[in-house]
Amino acid sequence: MSSLKLSVKSLKGVGDKAAARLQKLELNTLQDLLLHLPLRYEDRTRLFAINSLEVDKASLVRGRIEHVAIQTTGRKMLSCHISDGTGILILKFFHYSTVHTNALKRGVWVQCFGETRWGFNNCIEIVHPEYQVINKFDAVITENALTPIYPSTEGLYQKDLQKFISQALTICDSELIEYLPESVLQQFGYVDFRAALTQIHSPKLESKAGKKFTINSALQRLAHEELIVHYLTMRTAKQQAKCWQAPVFSPNKKVEKAFLKTLPFKLTGAQLRVIAEIQSDCERAQPMLRLVQGDVGSGKTLVAAMAALSAISNSYQVALMVPTELLAEQHNRNFSHWFAPFNFKILFLTGQLKGKAREQGLRALATGEIQLAIGTHALFQEQVQFQNLGLVIIDEQHRFGVDQRSALLNKGEQGEMRPHQLVMTATPIPRTLAMMQYADLDVSIIDELPPNRKPVVTRVLSAQRRDEVIAKINDWVAKKNQAYWVCTLIEESDVLQGEAAETSFKMLVKTLPKVRIGLVHGRMKATEKEVVMTAFKNHELDLLVATTVIEVGVDVPNASLMVIENPERLGLSQLHQLRGRVGRGDSESYCLLLYSALPEMARERLSIMREHNDGFVIAEKDLELRGAGEVFGTRQKGQLRFKTVNPEMHGHLFETVQLWGDYVATAVPKNVQPLIERWLDTAVNYADV
Ligand code: ADP
Ligand code: MG
Repeated sequence: MSSLKLSVKSLKGVGDKAAARLQKLELNTLQDLLLHLPLRYEDRTRLFAINSLEVDKASLVRGRIEHVAIQTTGRKMLSCHISDGTGILILKFFHYSTVHTNALKRGVWVQCFGETRWGFNNCIEIVHPEYQVINKFDAVITENALTPIYPSTEGLYQKDLQKFISQALTICDSELIEYLPESVLQQFGYVDFRAALTQIHSPKLESKAGKKFTINSALQRLAHEELIVHYLTMRTAKQQAKCWQAPVFSPNKKVEKAFLKTLPFKLTGAQLRVIAEIQSDCERAQPMLRLVQGDVGSGKTLVAAMAALSAISNSYQVALMVPTELLAEQHNRNFSHWFAPFNFKILFLTGQLKGKAREQGLRALATGEIQLAIGTHALFQEQVQFQNLGLVIIDEQHRFGVDQRSALLNKGEQGEMRPHQLVMTATPIPRTLAMMQYADLDVSIIDELPPNRKPVVTRVLSAQRRDEVIAKINDWVAKKNQAYWVCTLIEESDVLQGEAAETSFKMLVKTLPKVRIGLVHGRMKATEKEVVMTAFKNHELDLLVATTVIEVGVDVPNASLMVIENPERLGLSQLHQLRGRVGRGDSESYCLLLYSALPEMARERLSIMREHNDGFVIAEKDLELRGAGEVFGTRQKGQLRFKTVNPEMHGHLFETVQLWGDYVATAVPKNVQPLIERWLDTAVNYADV
């Protein structure tokens, strides 16, 4: 076994206790330790003269104690003035014992290290310095490398972590092999893998005179390798997935035509193009792995319906998975309506389907009586069995973890066969990030909205104008229009969100007695939600008060006004998604952003919403505003986790990662597997969200 995979317990000084603490930091193997990067460094390599000290900097100094004082009034404190002939520095101890008072006496020489700051008496001071008593003529004790300071946890001392990591470096030395091609290192001026780790964990001065460290380059070297490996992992996964067999769907023009004829509109060019891309994938005997990206309202559901139609008319079953019950219900309604002429049987499967009905439904699915299953993540639970699943469709895929996706796929596994896979997302992501995230998928983009869509007119208003807004709703519904009132809370808690929505609901019912108002939130039962949504869809309700549960999918074209309370609490992509609920019909639509507090960042976000309607543009602006680090961090719930990549520092490498990844795979194909293995823990992490 490679020593990189040895347990941390194989190190000297690591017993059960230390191992448990290391495990808290997810440090289980020597390899984990080697890739545990310092937060910062302390410089004990040089001594400062007191008059050359800078403030707020951890510094090494020495001097003679000139004066010792114990303050007993106010906060208890021991203070020592030390001098090195160039100036005076004050050392302060708020916690001290006889150990300190015995050692720190007037006339004694000390060397100390700590963070400097300005004291009240216009003197530089250090609070609780590390110190040691020395002889005046002792040689200066400096270290010849910077001291790394690591992320740690309670009970795990820096000194110990440093020792463990340096042991790991020695033990694994012969295995720190360079796998990247020489040309890549040259291109970027990188040192090899082993040298990079050594520089990071014990950064030697490059030259005493230059006092230069090359840590940043070494850090980038690791991050770059990790990014390339991430890409290679996805690329390999894609290649392996394509090795499976998949059912061949032959086109059935008759059924297609019959279906399209029932629609009240023509498909857009973009929809037709993407449908053709999907069909050509499914005519091959390898599994399709396709992502359809399209802005809110671009008509992805119909694209999914066409794919489902093709699978079912080839006698295969289809599973359609969505993240919320509300969206599942809506899809169920739409597909039932669209497929009614074809006599397809549909199972609507959420956590709410219980008892006999559930048993019956599952049995019919297993025997193949049912052609299409629509549901939430309840679909990939163990009891759910298909007879011959040929196509898996996942809508709003950014809400799901990678493992949920694959759990559903595994259901369709039969011998060498795997179902085709279509994932859809309305969250446009900037191209550079898309490359990182979807390298395992082929991508189709619906870059056209159905005709006659008018951009949603967006206004940013202070909550002080709430009464005006409420009056506008009155006029609005009097003209037979419908509206949404969205209550936001940052908390993920359904309870709190529900309460906030209920409060607004009561207020609106009171102020708008003539308006028919409904309420939906995440805490309601599926059947209750269904009743309200159906009523709203049928225009038996004029105004729908809702939490952000309506963010995905909900489609009621006659609703053309949306009020969002406290929009400043939401991110740009979420606001864009929400706003996508209006502007679906032919009439002019409005979105009123009713803010109560507006810090600078929020102001910019809301004005971007006012000025732009295109999801891709908004995503790019979001990236500009927040930087790759933030966008990447908050984007998809933990889908990507890196050990050494700091998107803020290394964001510029994303753009070319595919290029360099492909280059590495061609230049040193034998190294691809070892590279993936070296970083495997990371890959596992992102897969098991
Ligand atoms: P999304 O891409 O956000 O999932 P939907 O599939 O919900 O969008 O479609 C949004 C609305 O546009 C629906 O009411 C749908 O019926 C309608 N629609 C879809 N395609 C077209 C089209 N080609 N022409 C007109 N309306 C369309
Ligand atoms: Mg949709």
